[in-house]
Amino acid sequence: MIEAKELTKDFGKFRAVDKVSFKVEPGELFAFLGPNGAGKTTTIKMLSGLLIPTAGEASICSVSVTNNPVEAKKYIGFVPDEPNVYDKLTLREFLDFVADIYQIERQKARQIAKEYLKIFELDDRQDDLMQGYSHGMRQKTNIIAALIHDPQVLFLDEPTVGLDPRSARLIKDILKELAKEGRTVFMSTHILEIAEEMADRVGIIQKGQLKFIGTVEELRQGQGKEGSLEELFLQLTASDADKELISHLRG
Ligand code: ATP
Repeated sequence: MIEAKELTKDFGKFRAVDKVSFKVEPGELFAFLGPNGAGKTTTIKMLSGLLIPTAGEASICSVSVTNNPVEAKKYIGFVPDEPNVYDKLTLREFLDFVADIYQIERQKARQIAKEYLKIFELDDRQDDLMQGYSHGMRQKTNIIAALIHDPQVLFLDEPTVGLDPRSARLIKDILKELAKEGRTVFMSTHILEIAEEMADRVGIIQKGQLKFIGTVEELRQGQGKEGSLEELFLQLTASDADKELISHLRG
């Protein structure tokens, strides 16, 4: 469903993503983890056709994102880490606009959006200009907009940042449900409890290189250690300087 083959991105002389390869299958909920600046957003943007790779290839539902971006984007929903909206549009106008872009009948799109608007308590704010929306409302708006064309694959870059506990719970439940229905959910997060609770598999990227891909249990076996995903993650991604400091602190 999602395939990255030696996906690489250079910004000038700096290599942000270095020959990353993996597959994520239909019905899978996949969490993409890594320290700040590791290359998560860059990878997600290449997979969803927002950034052209320097080398390698991304494909979605067997369609090459690089060679056939318009076709591939029909299968993709994308929720960015920065929930930007069109300030001068109302939510209703925005969702109609998104439906038009995807060439979906507005009535059909409104029907899909209706339930999400209710769940997210935005149904009575649909005719307000989005310039007055809070961060959380913008985030929810972006999620609804990403689902309006009923995508097979959903990319979310840190979807729960800035959301209140109830909204975060709702989003987690929606994502689990989408995966249960056979869609592929690919999300980045720094909240390792979320990844541990929800993800079928995790991928860990550091300095542009994929360090691990598999289940949390496989990570435990590989690290030869029991413990939470947080402990395993910190151990896997610790630099030599971190290890020295830790051993120094432990005496
Ligand atoms: P975070 O967890 O902090 O959001 P991330 O894993 O999503 O980080 P990316 O945003 O993918 O990291 O960035 C990876 C690296 O690429 C970083 O060193 C970043 O500075 C660099 N980078 C990203 N976009 C650009 C750009 N447009 N121009 C130059 N460098 C960039």
